[in-house]
Amino acid sequence: MSSGLGKRGPDKNGQRVGIVGGGIIGLAIGAELLRRGADVTVYDPAPDGSAGAWHVAAGMLAPGGESLFEFPQLERLLDASNRLWPAFAASLGDVGYDEVGTLGVALTADDVAEMAREWKHQKLSPLTGSQVRDREPALSPRIRAGAYAPTERQVDPRRVVARLRAILDSRWKKAVISDLSELEEDTVVVAAGCGTAALTGLPIRPIKGQVLRLRGEPGILRHVIDGAADGRHVYLVPRADGEVVVGATQEERTDSRPTAGGVHDLLRAALDLVPGLSEHELAEVTVGHRPGTPDNAPVLGRLTGRVVVASGHHRNGILLAPITAQLIADLVLTGSADPLIEDFTPGRFGCA
Ligand SMILES: Cc1cc2nc3c(=O)[nH]c(=O)nc-3n(C[C@H](O)[C@H](O)[C@H](O)COP(=O)(O)OP(=O)(O)OC[C@H]3O[C@@H](n4cnc5c(N)ncnc54)[C@H](O)[C@@H]3O)c2cc1C
Repeated sequence: MSSGLGKRGPDKNGQRVGIVGGGIIGLAIGAELLRRGADVTVYDPAPDGSAGAWHVAAGMLAPGGESLFEFPQLERLLDASNRLWPAFAASLGDVGYDEVGTLGVALTADDVAEMAREWKHQKLSPLTGSQVRDREPALSPRIRAGAYAPTERQVDPRRVVARLRAILDSRWKKAVISDLSELEEDTVVVAAGCGTAALTGLPIRPIKGQVLRLRGEPGILRHVIDGAADGRHVYLVPRADGEVVVGATQEERTDSRPTAGGVHDLLRAALDLVPGLSEHELAEVTVGHRPGTPDNAPVLGRLTGRVVVASGHHRNGILLAPITAQLIADLVLTGSADPLIEDFTPGRFGCA
């Protein structure tokens, strides 16, 4: 496409910034730039639709559990963003941000061995099966062990994106960008999730994930449950309205088809851990694609003099939204990079 993109006049006090991609990362950056006085335009083809991994994501804010095998600098970034979440959520209103915390649970002896590595890494105290059930009576009596992670929280990504879209409503242009030179803004931020590779040549690939949404009476669970059941890893994220999000498969595939095997594995593990969920309605089966990179860490930084990238957030894009917004807004508006993003530049993949 071409013609007129980015041609709105600059704000009196604002640098013109075009953001390609209106998922959670592009919108969080856009809202932060707008708050600091920039003249922001967000380009995305789907203003009212559900394109983007955020629509599928469960919304676990899990800096420890998700980062065990990542590179160490990523843990610092995840922790820093987790600390920003309370204020970020408060600035948006009711987005389902919930601080009850996460209960890790393990069903069999092998599951205990696997989960214990994660719990040890996070320095969590182990709980017996009955201690775990004291906290969550709906858990199966077959559960052998667990651990409580108070700083692993949750938020509803669909509500976050709805609030961010409302903030940026008048700044949205419905457009698929196929060539960054079409845009005329002073700075272009590429935050197009899995669409980033085609625009930049960066090695960002889609990693398929299937997620279920169950609905029933509220209150069956209070904590996020991060569990292993007979070698199947599953998480259960209970919302206040009775929804329980069950996730997620992780597949090196590009298709968007839910599969019998994927749904079976998730349901079987969920019901093994919480048998009472069998009476819940199976309300949604969704498929999304995590924007993955070769080292599982995001790409944050300048690609060329005018183009900045904020993508490749893989399994942690919801958690990393607030820190990404701050770091990219700093880079765009001050021209200097915070030391926190030095390890995440496009240069590590031989770009820029
Ligand atoms: C199954 C699953 C479960 C997950 N669970 C969690 C979780 O519990 N916690 C967590 O922190 N993260 C989770 N994630 C990861 C998280 O969803 C992603 O990391 C995050 O959504 C990435 O945000 P994004 O804005 O970069 O990309 P997306 O959310 O994918 O949005 C990209 C946007 O860019 C637009 N776009 C693409 N190409 C173009 C183009 N050429 N022109 C214009 N617009 C374009 C798309 O329309 C879309 O709106 C999960 C992901 C999946 C798939």
